[in-house]
Amino acid sequence: MFAKRIILAATILAAGACSTTPPPQSLASAPGAGCASDSLVVAFDFEGAPAGRCIIDGERAFTVLVEPEHAPPINPSPWFAFRYSAAPGSDVSVTLRYDGADHRYPPELRGAGQLRELPVTLSDDEREARFTVPAGDAFVTAQELFLAGRYEALMAELAARDGVRRLTLGESIDGHPVEALHMGDPVAPHLIVLLGRAHPPEVSGAVAMESFLQRIGELYADGTIDPGEFQVIAVPLLNPDGVARGHWRANLGELDLNRDWGHFTQPETQAVKAWLDDLPESVRPAVMLDFHSTNRNLFYVQGADETSAEQEEFLADWLVPLTAAYPGYEFTIERRNANPGSGTSKNWFNEFYDIPAYTYEAADEVDREAAAAAARGIADAFIASLQDFVG
Ligand SMILES: [Zn+2]
Repeated sequence: MFAKRIILAATILAAGACSTTPPPQSLASAPGAGCASDSLVVAFDFEGAPAGRCIIDGERAFTVLVEPEHAPPINPSPWFAFRYSAAPGSDVSVTLRYDGADHRYPPELRGAGQLRELPVTLSDDEREARFTVPAGDAFVTAQELFLAGRYEALMAELAARDGVRRLTLGESIDGHPVEALHMGDPVAPHLIVLLGRAHPPEVSGAVAMESFLQRIGELYADGTIDPGEFQVIAVPLLNPDGVARGHWRANLGELDLNRDWGHFTQPETQAVKAWLDDLPESVRPAVMLDFHSTNRNLFYVQGADETSAEQEEFLADWLVPLTAAYPGYEFTIERRNANPGSGTSKNWFNEFYDIPAYTYEAADEVDREAAAAAARGIADAFIASLQDFVG
């Protein structure tokens, strides 16, 4: 038995040494099962990890297949998250092999007494990233894990303030609550709609939204925002299933929720729509912001022929002066015409309510403290401009 295993290992090593083609995927573990060698364990057994597959390439080498939650086409946000446990000894070689996307997120190591970004060597086609990790126990993730517990803390912190309520708008397919924070008087005429985390890997946008919301809470508390004039509905975690399951893009219904506005086929978007439909007629959305991440800091705003003079004034008053105001968080403002029926929140809120509806995009790799600091300033200016806009 022992000799047989040595021969098998030697065969695999020899095959690996003389061939540049990757090992066949038939050697991969079942989704979510993880894999192991004598000195190594790879696992996907925690919140935020996908039901990933891996391949043992050698005693101290493994490949993680970075695969989307449903068949392509899918937006190339190749999220990965796994943990490993390696017996004392030399570094372990890791390969990320992407299905349907190029390398996007630098792997971050957490554990083994360290927190650092891991330098990678990319294949020519950028479909493979190679790096090494130290012996010990650690997590490797595409971004920091920003999970339900952090939203819970945010909700609890804000809901402890006067005039802030925590609402359950509906339920996801997995049975997670679709939760919202409500601030201000429920009959205040002007409603601010804030959405976040439709797309699970977009953690920098979540950091920006967290800080933006905390600041809005402070502005109610210090009287800057009149609760009789303005109310806020904020849904910071629109896609709880996708975040918990480590999806690239979709909810558990295999749909991009930011293509479902106007169609309302999914429970998460339906939950928000139902709440909006129940509003008294005297209450009207004034502005919608949806927090996301992309490769740079920017705001997607309406195309020139989709806005009114007043909306253009609001944009010029609020965002134009801020593009270079925050060190480490310079951003651009990009106009994007609506594709009718495209189902983005930006297009649907603009069309349905005839209001400014912007996508707040934070860069994947932005410094988190800079993003959070900028979001506070952007929130201050937002409220000041909004008061003129509706006044
Ligand atoms: Zn997004």
